[in-house]
Amino acid sequence: MESAGPSTHHIASDVTSTHHIAPDVTSDSMTSRDYYADSYAHFGIHEEMLKDTVRTGSYRSAIMNNGHLFKGKTVLDVGCGTGILSMFAAKAGASHVVGIDMSNIIDQAQKIIEANGFKDTITLVKGKLEEAELPIDKFDIIISEWMGYFLLYESMLDTVLLARDKYLKPEGLIFPDTAKLLFAAIEDQDYKEEKINFWDNVYGFDYSCIKDIALREPLVDTVELKAVVTDPYVIKEINLLTATKEDLTFTAPFNLVATRDDYIHAFLAWFDIVFDCTHKKVKFSTGPHAQYTHWKQTVFYTPETITIKRGQEITGSLACAPNARNNRDLDISITYAVGDEEEETIVDYKMCVILYSCRIPFLLQSD
Ligand code: SAH
Repeated sequence: MESAGPSTHHIASDVTSTHHIAPDVTSDSMTSRDYYADSYAHFGIHEEMLKDTVRTGSYRSAIMNNGHLFKGKTVLDVGCGTGILSMFAAKAGASHVVGIDMSNIIDQAQKIIEANGFKDTITLVKGKLEEAELPIDKFDIIISEWMGYFLLYESMLDTVLLARDKYLKPEGLIFPDTAKLLFAAIEDQDYKEEKINFWDNVYGFDYSCIKDIALREPLVDTVELKAVVTDPYVIKEINLLTATKEDLTFTAPFNLVATRDDYIHAFLAWFDIVFDCTHKKVKFSTGPHAQYTHWKQTVFYTPETITIKRGQEITGSLACAPNARNNRDLDISITYAVGDEEEETIVDYKMCVILYSCRIPFLLQSD
């Protein structure tokens, strides 16, 4: 597969000069079954995250431009992956950094921190945060990149909140410390035709039973700003210093005001992240107005097309809860009414791990 051979533009013109790289025991002995169970072990997922410059660059600015907050401090990196955030913290002047990760990628992280001269400043622990013993009892700062699609999909925030309660000093800081979930409505005729109405007629056959299933799966994709028909609405704000696990199961009202006359085919969600404790308040958005990130946006198609006039409102609520059978999945229910109409529509959606080709976490892993 990816590592089975060189891609065409890497083939050397002189065949004899082609290097055969010997497999490394830790990562190259893994089979696809192992990667299925430990999807973060493969470098590809980390490549995607590292190359997301909005993501990684924001963490770098938040950490490295705030040396005064890190100087001489102990730092816990929850889910350290390849160790990138740990190294930012070490460079920012932390006295000691502990990085923990339950994936085999941490074997590479160990080599990376050694190769970069951080062996004495960064200690890596392999294991689940919930079960691990750490070499330091209390930390001044927690850093973590825990966000999933639709912010909460992956539920790794639970782990960060637990780390906070167990390991953060009373006046300690969390990077980042604020997350906002935003909501709007979009015109999306063409793509809805392609993704949902496609099932009405497949080579002349009626496949419409799949249409209902397809509609209930939120779609992770990029949406153009010009498709957005309403003002954005902050549906949920999470303060990581005070939030509890229970806060992640919620029902929140929304009120979307149309900015023009148009048709609406879907709701759209995205999130913004703020490092509120930093001097210059580093922040980034994953919204349709902002630079691309690997989180894209999340689209929730409505069963019927909505006709809206400028200034008219769509009111309703969004309920979000971990799925009872698999708490990594999210059950999302959207209730809405248009303008003064009494009639309410309720649609139950399910975000499910198997659907996404990239950043598939924890597949088949037992909790
Ligand atoms: N911090 C890295 C990786 C972020 S991806 C970076 O910014 O590039 C999230 C990482 O958290 C994954 O490597 C995953 O294996 C790890 N992780 C998720 N839940 C965890 C848990 N409960 N305990 C330890 N590691 C966890």
